[in-house]
Amino acid sequence: MTRPAQATIDFTALRCNLALVRATAPGRRVMAIVKANAYGHGLVRIARILGDSDTDGVDAFGVACLEEAEALRAAGIERPITLLEGVFEPSEYHAAARLGLTVVVHHVWQLEALESIVLPVPIAVWLKVDTGMRRLGISVADTRDAWQRLGNCRNACAPVGLMTHLACADEQDPCVTHNQLASFRGAAAELSAEWCLANSAGILGHPESHGQWVRPGIMLYGVSPFAHDCALALGLQPVMHFTSRLIAIKRVRAGEAVGYGGTWTSTTDTLVGTVAAGYADGYPRHARSGTPVLVNGQEVPLVGRVSMDMLCVDLKSQPDARIGDPVLLWGKGLPVERIATAAGTIPYELLCRIAPRVAIKEQD
Ligand SMILES: *Cc1c(COP(=O)(O)O)cnc(C)c1O
Repeated sequence: MTRPAQATIDFTALRCNLALVRATAPGRRVMAIVKANAYGHGLVRIARILGDSDTDGVDAFGVACLEEAEALRAAGIERPITLLEGVFEPSEYHAAARLGLTVVVHHVWQLEALESIVLPVPIAVWLKVDTGMRRLGISVADTRDAWQRLGNCRNACAPVGLMTHLACADEQDPCVTHNQLASFRGAAAELSAEWCLANSAGILGHPESHGQWVRPGIMLYGVSPFAHDCALALGLQPVMHFTSRLIAIKRVRAGEAVGYGGTWTSTTDTLVGTVAAGYADGYPRHARSGTPVLVNGQEVPLVGRVSMDMLCVDLKSQPDARIGDPVLLWGKGLPVERIATAAGTIPYELLCRIAPRVAIKEQD
C-alpha cells in the first residue's frame, strides 16, 4: 500500500441498516438503491451483501443507468434491477430485455418508444407519476391513460407498477409530503398496481408512504436523510470509515499562517499535523477551518485550506501526537453529516465523491 488514505466498508453496519429498513417497513419489499457506485461504497460489493439470501436479502436493486445494471449482471447478481430513470434512448430497451431489467417509464417519449419497438421478451415496468417533484414523471391527469397503454403494450409485463418520488420527505413540515401522497392516491385510484414511493426519508418519517415497495438509499449506508435527526439517534450505523494518517508534524508560532493562501493563522504557538487526504481523495475542499477531524480518536480542528493530497489540523490538544498516528476523516465516531455541514453540502455528495484512488478495505 502506498498512500494511507483508505475507506473501510463495514458489512456488519450495512446488514444492520438493512435490518432497520425491514423493521421500519415490515412486510414491504425492498428495492435497495445502489446507483452511483452504491453511493461511493462499491456497487458489486454492496449488492453482494445486500442481496445475500441468508440474511433476508433485498428484493431488487435500483440503479441510474444501463452500465450500472450491466456491472451487477456481470457479477452474477440475478435479482431484479430497476433503471430508475428508465432508458436514455430507445435502443436501450433491447439491452434491458436481454439483461432482464425493469425500467421506469417517466415520460411519454419512453412510452411511445416502448410501444413502437419489438422486443424478444416483455420487460417489467414502473410508471413514474409526478406528484410534485416536477423533475420526472407523467402528470397525475395522464396517469390512467399511460398505465392503460402500458397494460396493452406487448413489450411490458403486466401489471405495471406505479411509483413517485417525494421531494420534501426529509423536512419537518409534512405538508408537501401529505399533498404528494394525496395526489398519488388520486392518480392510482382504481388501478390495480403495486406502489413504490418511499426513499429513506419516507421510510423513516412517513409510514403512510410505504406502499408494497420501499426504495432506501442513504439509510442503508448508515446516514440520516434528515438535517434534524442524526443517524445514531435513528439506529443507523455508518458503513464507510474514511481514514488516513499523520505524515508530518511541525511547530507553528503565533502569527504564522498555514496552507495555500495562508487563510488560517495560528493565534498561539502550536503543533500542526499534516494528514494524507485531500480533495483528490474526495475530502471536500470547501470544509472550513474548524471542521472536526479525529486524530487518535480525539477531535481536532482542520486548519487552512484543504489541498489536493493533504490537509492540516491543529494538534494543540495533542502534544504527544506522532507521525503515523491514525486519523478518521468521517465514519464511526465522526458522522459524515458533520463534515457535510461544515463544507456546505450534504452527506450524499461526500460519500459518492470518494475518489477511486482511495484504497478500499472490506470489514466483515
Ligand atoms: C436515489 C433515489 C432514491 C434513494 O433516496 P435516498 O434519499 O438515498 O433514500 C430513491 N428513489 C429514487 C427514484 C432515487 O433516485
